[in-house]
Amino acid sequence: MHIVLFGSPGVGKGTQAKRLRERKNWTIIATGDLLREAIAQGTALGLEAKSYIDKGELVPDSVVNGLAREQLSKITGGFALDGYPRNLTQAVQLDEWLSDLNKPIQKAILFELPEEELVKRLSGRRLCSECGAVFHIESGPSQKGDLCDKCGGNLITRSDDEPETVKRRLAVYSEQTQPLVEYYERQGLLVRVSAEGSPDEVFERLIQALE
Ligand code: AMP
Repeated sequence: MHIVLFGSPGVGKGTQAKRLRERKNWTIIATGDLLREAIAQGTALGLEAKSYIDKGELVPDSVVNGLAREQLSKITGGFALDGYPRNLTQAVQLDEWLSDLNKPIQKAILFELPEEELVKRLSGRRLCSECGAVFHIESGPSQKGDLCDKCGGNLITRSDDEPETVKRRLAVYSEQTQPLVEYYERQGLLVRVSAEGSPDEVFERLIQALE
């Protein structure tokens, strides 16, 4: 199956995408993760992306589309796109590529959560600086405190999870990403999934939504 996962920052897309990879063995393309890797490696692309990410803005389409295209061309089985597309230009470009590859999007999953809950999830989120595992200080803490209980790396707050940047990211979501709701609805692909509750509860709903 070929799907898109989208929804506001903090809704838990990344957590659910990782679970899909484990359960279904699908390829996950997460543009945010790819950009953070490029930043960690200090590449020119990473350096360019960092200036946008730190302000809570979207990275230019030319940069993100290039990254996504490269990954899409390698896919063989099912896949889920996490955080891509994030605006209409990207969505139209993606549809064009996938039509050429004969792998059109079959469902676009929209995760929904009230705004107060989004802010709470973002401000408590901690990321392993080594392996990228995601924790939450209240709902999913690491057993090793400030260290990752998977690899022992240091847990950090993502720089774009700081309160001012979060505000901008939420505004960018409603201006630029929200129009995708109508875009996928018109194509009959939109499926709404409530992101309330624990990651396990959301995952159960997601699996049902995919059936
Ligand atoms: P994420 O990990 O998906 O929350 O992405 C973190 C940041 O990376 C976003 O706030 C954007 O600045 C950037 N980013 C990730 N995916 C995209 C995309 N598809 N288009 C533009 N910018 C993106």
